[in-house]
Amino acid sequence: MTVSAARMRVGFIGLGIMGRPMAGHLVNAGYAVTVHNRSRAAVEALVAGGASDGGSPAGVVRVADVIILMLPDTPDVEQVLFGPQGVTEATRPGQIVVDMSTISPVATRDIAARLAEEGVAMLDAPVSGGQKGAAEATLSIMVGGEQAVFDACFPLFQVMGKNIVRIGEIGAGQVCKACNQVVVAITIQAVAEALTLANKLGVDSAKVRQALLGGFAQSRILDLHGQRMLDGNFQPGFRVNLHHKDLNIALTSGGAAGVPLPATAIVQQLFGALRGRGDGDLDHSALAKLLSALSGLD
Ligand code: NAP
Repeated sequence: MTVSAARMRVGFIGLGIMGRPMAGHLVNAGYAVTVHNRSRAAVEALVAGGASDGGSPAGVVRVADVIILMLPDTPDVEQVLFGPQGVTEATRPGQIVVDMSTISPVATRDIAARLAEEGVAMLDAPVSGGQKGAAEATLSIMVGGEQAVFDACFPLFQVMGKNIVRIGEIGAGQVCKACNQVVVAITIQAVAEALTLANKLGVDSAKVRQALLGGFAQSRILDLHGQRMLDGNFQPGFRVNLHHKDLNIALTSGGAAGVPLPATAIVQQLFGALRGRGDGDLDHSALAKLLSALSGLD
């Protein structure tokens, strides 16, 4: 790597629920950060806090050594990298693209190969920990890519997260994230089923959650998402649409490898039903809302 961590200029593209606070931490840590987003409000807020406005993905790349992406899905990442005014219109050999979005591991390997032709290195570095982890800089970051590139970017990851693990070569971070999303989806559904059952049987579901938190069924999801379910607060958080996308990635990967994922497939169907009801922009804990409706509780 030609760029030392201390002098790294950072580009950040995709300033939504996750990207905006993550970019903010980098600004607050003293990095020169240039940002871009499709809608303007988050750009203006970060510029007010000390970031620069790149104006477009290519504009970001012209003044950055490392370009971080935090976009919704595979087509968004491909468009920002290779579309009009995209990243690759302005890349220089020696730059690094760090994709922290959750996208397909197969597409990630293809993208990395295309960037390598331009002399640009890539890491896939999806995260877990949600909105709270992004706000508190406690994200778990699962990274795929060359060790030397990982080492160069490690100081940036430390600003945004706590548990930073290089899983393996390019794409390995996205495989890890797919595994994470399987566990999270099935656990949310389990919590939704438990609390809905208690509710329907006339038992105080808040007391059930409280008791379960001290026993073998305790989990962060029972704690945080269980509370959301009790409050009926389904503002995201993590959108149903995004988790539906992530389970598609897991099911496609499992299908290609001959690994059946039956529980994942069921929760995928339930996320699909929420989308069909127009609830795709709710938090993924809205699985409980769907179950309540199916149980005649609404
Ligand atoms: P989000 O709130 O929808 O943010 C995505 C951002 O990307 C939006 O600000 C959007 O702009 C911007 N964007 C989309 N297409 C663009 C383009 N072509 N050019 C420039 N900007 C573009 O999503 P998020 O919740 O932050 O999630 C981002 C990624 O992190 C996803 O892959 C998700 O799966 C993953 N993730 C999310 C969470 C979570 O809890 N939210 C947790 C872990 C991982 P607009 O403002 O115009 O829409």
